[in-house]
Amino acid sequence: MLLLENGERCMSIEIDETHDPARESWVPSARRHAQFPIQNLPYGIFAPADAEPRPGVAIGDAILDIGALARAGLLPEPAASALGSNTLNALFGLPSAARRALRRRLSQLLTDRAHEPALATSLHEATACTLHLPVLIGDYSDFYVGIHHAMNVGRIFRPDTPLMPNYKHLPIGYHGRASSVRVSGTPVRRPLGQTAGPDNRPNFAPTRQLDYELELGIFIGEGNSLGERIELAKASQHMAGLCLLNDWSARDVQAWERLPLGPFLSKSFQTSISPWVISTEALVPFRIAPPSRPEGDPKPLPYLEDATDRAGGQYALNLEVSLLTSRMRDSALAPERISRTTSTVMYFTFAQIVAHQASNGCNLNPGDLLGTGTLSGPTREGSGSLLELSGAGTQPLRLANGETRRFLEDGDEVMFTATAEAPGRVSIGFGSCRGVVLPSH
Ligand code: CA
Repeated sequence: MLLLENGERCMSIEIDETHDPARESWVPSARRHAQFPIQNLPYGIFAPADAEPRPGVAIGDAILDIGALARAGLLPEPAASALGSNTLNALFGLPSAARRALRRRLSQLLTDRAHEPALATSLHEATACTLHLPVLIGDYSDFYVGIHHAMNVGRIFRPDTPLMPNYKHLPIGYHGRASSVRVSGTPVRRPLGQTAGPDNRPNFAPTRQLDYELELGIFIGEGNSLGERIELAKASQHMAGLCLLNDWSARDVQAWERLPLGPFLSKSFQTSISPWVISTEALVPFRIAPPSRPEGDPKPLPYLEDATDRAGGQYALNLEVSLLTSRMRDSALAPERISRTTSTVMYFTFAQIVAHQASNGCNLNPGDLLGTGTLSGPTREGSGSLLELSGAGTQPLRLANGETRRFLEDGDEVMFTATAEAPGRVSIGFGSCRGVVLPSH
């Protein structure tokens, strides 16, 4: 339970027995698992070898087939009826109370050893399974709430006024392309695009400035009807969970095409997401107050202002980017961590992003994906893109094996990871979001 500044308790944000640090699963690999201990229970879509995709929950090094459990009558309604599909849209569309009931039951089944015989045939070794997109993504928007990224990129284009006058008043966003969102592990093909040549005579050629953007993705839970808004105070109930998101970007294409309507083909060639959805229920113990706005910054307009969100609208998440080049792979070297940051660099919260997106009455649907924008920290080590790490290509990143990077080269593999950590709590992980760059066709 979260205590607000005025002493009022917020009943919708509850810690329960599923978060108990002493709780352990009878699945041996789940004990002290860095990513998927019993306290996590993330949702995804997986397929055992030679079998159809189905809903699952990651537990240690295994995946529990929750569709099979629903058919066996082991799970509560209405969640059980929402699991007879190869997407999680129906589950996400349920009221958050239904997902909380499902989580409690799953935690009980995986804790109480008496259930082991009944569940044994529904547990699959994760390494023998294929992971799929967790939902059918109807719509995808991408925001820009990482303020250090906005400052860093702004300085490149407008050294005197890096932030536009609207930045601190609304979460800046644009509509992305849902059809090209792919699950982690899918390679990304270097795109062709139009770039500025000498005297503004453009070329059409493979991008020479392929980049990644470290972001978090928000999955919409219960939607809203067209014409109705989502109040900020209720926005967290409309979020099913979070994932890692790589908004692959072609910087040279972006620079030429972005005026006046913003990014288009420089982003839509592919977006990668991690396969496991870390539920908002699992993230409850990691809620923290977002950083206070610096002195002199504008107060948010009333529709973006809520005491509960101000008290606990951010999560304590640590994020990392690693790179594995072809040469490192050939030398059997491990991926090298090239940056480290936290989610507290967001100028607006997850709930403010959701409330803003629906503030004009635009309907959001279960499974819609909203990206936060690149989450860069205040220092170069926290850069969430190569554009920032290499000073727009002027100061190449030097890797431990002597290689340098201005932008991504063919064969490079980019990996994102995240963990949620809080004192006295069992930390939980997001798994990873990875993709290797293939040469252009
Ligand atoms: Ca982005």
